[in-house]
Formats: sequence, structure tokens, C-alpha cells
Amino acid sequence: DRLPIRRALLSVSDKTGIVDFARMLAGMGAEILSTGGTAQAIRAAGIPVKDVSEHTGFPEVLDGRVKTLVPQVHGGLLGRRDLSAHLQQMEQHGLAPIDLLAVNLYPFEATVAKGAEFDDCIENIDIGGPAMIRSAAKNHAHVVVCTEPQHLLRVTEELATQGGTSLALRRELAAAAYARTASYDAAIGSWFAGQVGQEFPPRLAFAGQLAQTLRYGENPHQRAGFYLDGTGRPGIATARQAQGKELSFNNLNDTDAAFDCVAEFERPAIVIVKHANPCGVAEGTDLAAAWDAALRCDPVSAFGGIVAANRVLDAAAAERISAIFTEVVIAPDADEAARAIFARKKNLRLLLTGGLPDPASPGMVFRSVGGGFLAQSRDAGRVTEGALKVVTQRAPTAQEMADLLFAFRVCKHVKSNAIIYARGGATVGIGAGQMSRVDSARIAAWKSAEAARASGSDTPLAQGSVVASDAFFPFADGLEAAAAAGATAVIQPGGSMRDNEVIAAADAAGLAMVFTGMRHFRH
Ligand code: 5GP
Repeated sequence: DRLPIRRALLSVSDKTGIVDFARMLAGMGAEILSTGGTAQAIRAAGIPVKDVSEHTGFPEVLDGRVKTLVPQVHGGLLGRRDLSAHLQQMEQHGLAPIDLLAVNLYPFEATVAKGAEFDDCIENIDIGGPAMIRSAAKNHAHVVVCTEPQHLLRVTEELATQGGTSLALRRELAAAAYARTASYDAAIGSWFAGQVGQEFPPRLAFAGQLAQTLRYGENPHQRAGFYLDGTGRPGIATARQAQGKELSFNNLNDTDAAFDCVAEFERPAIVIVKHANPCGVAEGTDLAAAWDAALRCDPVSAFGGIVAANRVLDAAAAERISAIFTEVVIAPDADEAARAIFARKKNLRLLLTGGLPDPASPGMVFRSVGGGFLAQSRDAGRVTEGALKVVTQRAPTAQEMADLLFAFRVCKHVKSNAIIYARGGATVGIGAGQMSRVDSARIAAWKSAEAARASGSDTPLAQGSVVASDAFFPFADGLEAAAAAGATAVIQPGGSMRDNEVIAAADAAGLAMVFTGMRHFRH
């Protein structure tokens, strides 16, 4: 099954490695056919190359829209060498066999990512390239197809050691070829749907590109990979890992949750995450102050956590963060002093993203279900003070109001049922993921008492705090639990059948309560 190369067609946008590859092919006596820019690059290196237009007798026309869409190319790629009828027809119509195709496509994804105009994106839709790739991959029994610079090296190695390509490699590269054209068209389809205002097109295009195979999934017996959707949203997808061990599936999942949460805040902020739930969130005058306050919320859970910052990390923050065992730190950047401090902790993974995601930006999130997947727009909802409705006799004080808005922003990032106590721009008790809201309220209160004890105080941190609930209180009991824990003000969506009972309980306890009219379930 070793397939020597007599004729090759090279047509690449990314010219990495193509000249060396052409030189190797020419050295083996192969004829090289090539399109405009690629031919130019090869010829400039003094390697013999024939223009496709000369080979086909048909010029490149329509600004390059039609370069290779001719029978001489596709017949040369598709003809079966094991059927005499095919060979006869190829002979009769002058369809010289092409044994190797190296194509990488017009950079459509990169053009979209850099924010190009509509017309520019359209011009970057490659037509002839995907057509050739699909032809060559279909006929992989007789043709080898390279769709990435990396593939050129794989083929070079086999040609050098075996004088021809193996069927196994040709099949592997054919699989990669169809994955590439699929993700390419998916990127075009997603972009186009967005251009015509379709959030949920009849068929959802996934533009996933494998970025990394992971050691394992959520558990060691599960296999996993990290795919990029091509949107370039700042975060784990754009991050540069400055140091530390390889990221795991759980690291990536938790880090993503932490970074999305910290991006919610305008002032310097720190979020500490465990198992995709925040266990401490705080704003401060600087990152070091925010860290101290975030850590105070739940110092036990913070051990081995993921830390996200919304500012460039400085030395003071780095000293504080690296004082406890931390798995991952993610931030837009870190100054030199901070990097030097983190460098002392060899295993700590430091991710620098170059920016923050916009919490209000649109985008889709997915969840797989048996036989399919659910798609929804990202929870970009944000309540502002103006949208709040005071429902109690007492209105919140200015300090309470600031904390209520802070706590409700945190709520969005905590698994339901979520109950958050906050005071002075910091969470002081978080109840997450319980099946009953009253249990979440009790757990959050209990945690605030634990945190106080850890810092040598008998007064629960929730004393004098505000409380946020991701969804309405169905009964007065959850609210009463919050009041008993020491909360003085409440923020919640409202909308329960028993709102009146809940409001009456708040009034009876002297609490101020506001309704947001917006829910933040996160299941
Ligand atoms: P070059 O730089 O060699 O002029 O162009 C290489 C690019 O042209 C490759 O990305 C290849 O996929 C693309 N290409 C090759 N043939 C055609 C064609 O017939 N139409 C279009 N639109 N693109 C083509």
C-alpha cells in the first residue's frame, strides 16, 4: 500500500513549511502543480513548479474564485487507479493523476475574529480548497491529503523512510480533512446565521476545533478534549499558560466559572472557586484587599481552589494568593514582580488571558442531553438599581443597596439553589446547589458562622449583611432563616404565589427587600 508521489498539487494560504515540502517532492522527481501565490513562493526558492492554469489550459479567473474548479484537477484527484474504466477515461480526457494534495484554506475564522466587514468575510470563504480536499480525501486509497502544516511533516517522514505513504496515514489524514471542511463550514454557517439575526438556525453549526486532548475527563476513567469554538472570547480559550502543570478537565471547567464571575465587577475583584462554585468573592481597593476579603468568606474551601482576578496581578496580590495552596490563577495579566513570586510555586498554573470577557456579550451555551443537546443564550442578564422594586416598608440604605447589587451579581454564578450573604463588597456566606432554598439559606448562614470562628470571632460574618436569592422564596421560611442569620436586607426576583407572606415576614423582621424581576437559575 506504499504510494509514491508522481504528481502533487500544492495550494495553501498558510505557507508554513510549503517550500521545504516542495523541495523534498521535487527531489523525489515529482511534478509540482500550484496556484498563484503558492507557485510564486515555490518558484522564488528556485524549485521547478507548474501553474495549475498551465496544466489545465484554463486561467485563474474571477479574482481567484475559480482556480482549481476544473475537471483536470478533480478528475486527477478522484479517478480510481484500480479500475481500468477510470484509467481509460482519465487517459481519454487528459486527466493526469494527482497523488498528493496539500491545501489549507482561506483564513475565514481569523478574518471574522479580527472583526472584518461583511464583504471581506465573504471573500474569505474558500470554495476550491474544500472541494479539492473532499475529492482527495474520498479517494484516499490513491491520494494523500494534507490540510495542516503539521501534516506535511508526517508525509515527509513516511516518504523519506518508506518511499511512499501508507494507507493508514492516508486514512488518518482523510479523517482530518473532513473534520476540517466540516468545522470550516460550521464556522461560516455560525457567522452567517449571526449576520442574518438568527440565534437558533434550523441546524446548529458547531465550529469546534480540537485545542488539546486532556489526560482524562471529570474522572480518570473518562476521556476528554478541549475544543475551541472560534469566537476568541477572552478566557481559558485565549489564555497563555505562564507556568505550572498541565490543566485538567476540572481545572478548565472551574477556571472558566471563576473568570466569568470575576469579569462581572468594575472594581478590583477576586473570585475563589471550588467545583465550579464560588467560595469567596470580593471587591476591594486593590487585588490584595479583595483577596483578603474573599478568603475570609470560606478559608477552608479555598484550599486547592481556583483564583480569578479582574486586574493585572501585582506583587502584593501574588504574595497573598500564593500563601495558600492554589491550583490555578487566572487574570488578564501579571506584572514581572507577580510572576517572579508565582514562579516559586512550580505546580501553580498561571493563566494570562490578555483581557476580560464582556459579561453582557451574547453567545450560546450548550448542555448535552440524551439524543441531542440543549442550546441557550448566555445568561447576560444584569440588574441595575433603577430596575429594582422596593417591596417592604423600609427601603435599603445606600450601603445595603451596593451590597444587594453585588450579591445578586454573584448569585448568577452560583449553582441553584443559591443563597448569598454579602457585606461591604464581599461574600460572607454562600449556600450552593441545594435542592431546597431554605437548606441553602441555612448552609450559607452556618458557613458564615464557621468563617467567623476561623478568624476568632463569635459573631457570624452574616450579622449585618444582605442576602441574595437566585430565585424567589416560595415560602417565608427561607427569608426567616436569613433574618435569623443576621441579614438586614434582601434581593430576590419575586414572583412567588406567596410573595405577600414573604414580604410580611420581611416587614415583621424590619428587613428591607427589593425585587429584581429577573431570575438567575444555574442548574
Ligand atoms: P494561492 O496563495 O496559492 O494563490 O491560493 C491558495 C489558496 O487558494 C488556498 O487556500 C486554496 O484553498 C485556495 N483555492 C484553491 N483553488 C481555489 C478555487 O478554485 N477557488 C477558491 N475560492 N479558492 C481556491
